[in-house]
Parts: sequence; structure tokens; C-alpha cells
Amino acid sequence: MSDNRRGSGFVVSCPKCGKVHQKSITTESIIICQRCGFEFYSLLKNSVFIAFPASQIDNTQFFGQVKLLASTLDRLSPNETGADCRETRV
Ligand SMILES: [Zn+2]
Repeated sequence: MSDNRRGSGFVVSCPKCGKVHQKSITTESIIICQRCGFEFYSLLKNSVFIAFPASQIDNTQFFGQVKLLASTLDRLSPNETGADCRETRV
């Protein structure tokens, strides 16, 4: 987890130039960076932030995997540690 926590919410910043766009607890949106013009999809849920180029939304397999991940995050309660999950390093 990167150190992007600010107060009670999180900072959503451009993955290309770092410009801060939102301070939020949860979001799912397509953002066009006002500084560098980069268009990206952002998902912030349960303290996890995902960002990727908006052009990848047309990649249904990739976007489907992201949506699947998002639905998995929904099911994780604060009491679950994920300790019984095996981690695979790539
Ligand atoms: Zn930018």
C-alpha cells in the first residue's frame, strides 16, 4: 500500500504526472488529467486504488478482470485478514 492516505480519505492522482484530482473514500470514474491530458479509469474501494488507461476499457477481458476484482473487494470485511490466502509473486 502506498502512502497516499490524507486525513479520512484518499488522494486520487494522475498515474502519469501525479496531479491530484480527487480526495475521496470511494470512487469509480474516468478522469481526464487537466495537466497532462492523460485519460484514465480510477477505482478506489476499501482502501485499494486501481488506475489504468481509459483506452483499456475497450479490452473487455482486462476490464472484466478489474470489475471482478472490484466485486471481490466488496466482499472483504474489515475483520478479514486474508491470512488464509496464498500469495503468488510474479
Ligand atoms: Zn496527468
